[in-house]
Parts: sequence; C-alpha cells; structure tokens
Amino acid sequence: MKVMKFGGGCLRSPNNYRDIASILRNEMSTPIVIVVSAINGVTNNLELAAQTALESEERIPEVVSEIRSFHQDIIEDIIDDKGILLRTRDQLEGKFQELERLLFGVAYTGEISDAVRILILSQGERLSSIILAAILVDQGIQAQALESDMIGIQTDSVCVNATANLRATKLNLTTQLTPLLQKEIIPVITGFFGCTDEGKTSSFGRNGSDYSAAVVAYSLSAKSVHIWKDVDGFMSADPRIVQDSIRIDTLSYLEAAELSYFGAKILHPRTVEPLAGTNIKIFVRNLHSPENSITVIQPKGHEKSDVIKSVTANDDIVVLRIHGAGVGHKPGIIGEIGRTLSGSDINIFSVLTSQTCINLLLASTDSGKSVDALRHLVGGVIERIELKKNVSLIAVVGEGLLTTEGLAARVFTAVAERGINVEMFAAGASEVAYYFIVEQSDMKTAIQAVHTKFFGAM
Ligand code: ASP
Ligand code: MG
Repeated sequence: MKVMKFGGGCLRSPNNYRDIASILRNEMSTPIVIVVSAINGVTNNLELAAQTALESEERIPEVVSEIRSFHQDIIEDIIDDKGILLRTRDQLEGKFQELERLLFGVAYTGEISDAVRILILSQGERLSSIILAAILVDQGIQAQALESDMIGIQTDSVCVNATANLRATKLNLTTQLTPLLQKEIIPVITGFFGCTDEGKTSSFGRNGSDYSAAVVAYSLSAKSVHIWKDVDGFMSADPRIVQDSIRIDTLSYLEAAELSYFGAKILHPRTVEPLAGTNIKIFVRNLHSPENSITVIQPKGHEKSDVIKSVTANDDIVVLRIHGAGVGHKPGIIGEIGRTLSGSDINIFSVLTSQTCINLLLASTDSGKSVDALRHLVGGVIERIELKKNVSLIAVVGEGLLTTEGLAARVFTAVAERGINVEMFAAGASEVAYYFIVEQSDMKTAIQAVHTKFFGAM
C-alpha cells in the first residue's frame, strides 16, 4: 500500500488532473490512498475571506462566489459525465454554504476563534478532495472523498499546529479504510486537519498536508509515501541562488527534517515525525516528470563521499540576545524564558548560550511579541534584551558531518575567503547539520561559497 499526497500546485489545470489519473493507472497494482491539499492559493483566499468577514458582512457573498466559481470552473472543464458533474456540483454547493454560514457567523459576532478559523480554512481541502475524487471517477478510476475529521484522524487538544494521536488514528483509519481498499476504491482524504477527541476540528498548521500524509501512512502501515509537487525534490542549494545546484537522490529522515526546518520549502518539517521507528520511505516526486527527479527519504542515512548534501538558509529569523553576567549560573532561567515565550505562543527554533548571554532564534514575525513578553524579567539576572534583525541562519547538512575531520574548517574557510563575517556558529547540536548566522546581505554569497567548495566551481 502506498500513500500519495498531491499538493496544491499539482491541482491547478485540467492537465494536472489528467496526469494524476495516468500516474494512478500506472501505479495501481498496489493499493493507493490519496491525501490532498487545497487547490493552489485557496487556503490564502480563505484566510482573506475570514479577514474580510471580520471587518464586515458586506463582501461575504462576493467572496464566496469567487471561491465558488473558481472550483466550479475546474469541474465544468474536466468532468464529461453529466451525472457526475451534477452530483459534484451539489456536493461542492454544500461546502460553499457551510463556508458562507461560518463567515456570516464571524461577521455577526465580530470575532474569530482559532476553532472557527480552522473550520473556514479546512473548506479548501474539503473542496479539493471532492473535486479530485469526482474527476477520478469520471476518468474510470474508483475513488471516494473523505474528510479527515470525520474518519478519525485524531489529534491532541491543540487547535492549531496539533499533533496526531497515532494510536487512535491507526485504529480509526484501519476500520474506515479497509472496506474501501478491499473494493479497490481509492480514498481521497483531506490533508491539513484532523479532530480532537472532543470532536473539534484541529489543524496541523500551514502546509500541514505532508504531515497528514505521513500520519495516514503510519496508520495503514504503508510501504511508502509519495509527495507529489510541481517542482523537483530536494536540491543541493536553492536553484535561485546556486544555478548549477543538483538534485539530491537520497536523504535520511534526519537530513530531510533539518533541511525542511531551515529553508527548503519542499516538505513540511514535521513530515518524518510520525514515521520514526518505521521503515516507510518518502518519495518526493515531480508531477511534470514522474519517472525522474525523485528524492528518496529513508530512515537510515548514507554518507555521500564529500559528506555535505545541501546548504540552505532561513531568512525569516531574528536572534534575541538576553544579556546578564549571571545567566550561565542561575538555575531555571532558560526554563522561565521558555515558559514565558510559549505562554505567548512563541516558538523557539534554537538556543545558543554562553555564561553571559542566552541567544534565542525566533521567527521574525515573533520579534516584537517576544520582547514584550520578556520585558518583565529584565532587572534581575537579566540585564538587557537585544534584538538582532536582518540576519540569516545557514544550515549545512550531511550525514556524517560530525565525524568527518576538517569539515567545519572547510565550511568556514569558504565563507571567510569571501570576506563574510560569521556572527554565531553551532556544531554538535545536530548530528547532521552545522548552523551559522551571517548578515542577511551576505546570505547568498555565503551559500554560493560553501556550495562551490563542496560541489565544484560555478
Ligand atoms: N492547504 C493548507 C495550506 O496551504 C495545507 C497544505 O497545503 O498543506 O497551508
Ligand atoms: Mg505544501
């Protein structure tokens, strides 16, 4: 059994859907379960719709009608069978009405809870699963749309960025999906969200459908997960920065997680999480070249001869520097900072400490909020808080990097040769990555320098 996840970029044009149908026909010798994202751009439009509704109810009918025609045009274009077309139109209409009711609720109360926002956003996947299943049926492939919160993709009680309850989900999905699979019907499951054990819809966060696919794969003990995209898989560097970057054939779970956290927007960083301890392989594939351009992600690593597989950067970070002569001695200080920040929903990417300074890496969107949250701690052990903006975090990733002599020296020689100052450096924290921080304006040159050192001249 394999799980195939189709991202929004694979669900744009009639040709995309024909390509999906032909891939399925070629690969149907083993049972397939599909997980879908919303169609490209739809989740963003739903975010905007929620925002519009918060301001006033006036534009709700217009906004819903845009979303309606966008989805209806797709089925009118592709579905030939009149009966299927009518049925699908009705099913979609049910979702548009639900969406409209939710938006009017927001306008009426003038407020939006996380739970309501998730319900609004989740309509994107509900619509796309209905559409993909209908198109497949029209193409002669048996398929059925299923909503992940109805079939028991169960999560913890967190509403946004939830974590799947793998044990409960395994039980539920096995019961729900086995009868379909026995009848050779392909389930087309909504990605992105599940449901808490109190029955509330909860989301895995933006781009969370990759994680959903992994949860489904774990639950059904699939052999593999195929993440379909409209671009090639992981590269040795962002091709916009390094023109002759090359595709990476294989990565370990750990390497893929590091690359996803830091820059590469190929896979949701949490995708490998549900797969830990399994032997399930992830294939990242390009819809436009299904036989080639595959990155395979597997549990065990393999060392490339020159160790480094990729160099990537994250520009959306700030460094929060917490100064105090005694921070290295005061027990519990990091715990207190961590609790304060998590109380304000701020995620810490990474921590680097010395005796006199604690450096926290945060998302730049959290910078203002984090200073506000920590202000009340200043005055005691903490002397002052400083925010460093306009920096980039560069990650150099490769299995075996900690045990290969002279590697860090080569990385830093490459950067130093271009006259770039490294502001902070961490090695040893991850078994497969070094991190360092440079001024944002030096980021591209630093990546090019490291890439040239390990992959040859550009
Ligand atoms: N549609 C959701 C988003 O854009 C989830 C996904 O695409 O993975 O965030
Ligand atoms: Mg995505």
